[in-house]
Amino acid sequence: MHIKTNDTVVVITGDDKGQRGKVLAIDRREGRLVVEGVNRVYKHVRRSQKNPQGGRLSKEMPVQVSNVLLLCNRCGKGVRTGARLAKNGTKERYCKTCGTGMGEISPAKTK
Ligand SMILES: [Zn+2]
Repeated sequence: MHIKTNDTVVVITGDDKGQRGKVLAIDRREGRLVVEGVNRVYKHVRRSQKNPQGGRLSKEMPVQVSNVLLLCNRCGKGVRTGARLAKNGTKERYCKTCGTGMGEISPAKTK
């Protein structure tokens, strides 16, 4: 997966198409992630000891990773990313549209 927690992503399909948000959690096994403000649902809660008022609780549900793109600050939109070796030997993500590096993904290999 090319996305990390705290990345800003753009939703490219579904009800929240065009929305931007910060990645809060990732489930790598399922290929899903929770994005701030995206795929919000209301959970109706009954009156209980813990929640004497009851009512509606708003929370984000996970979306499929294929439904989002990483936001490139330079392009100002969601972009496809690739991985490449940087000069210092670390592996980094980069924007396939403008070529800007978007952070290290693995440290330099030492031989
Ligand atoms: Zn870019």
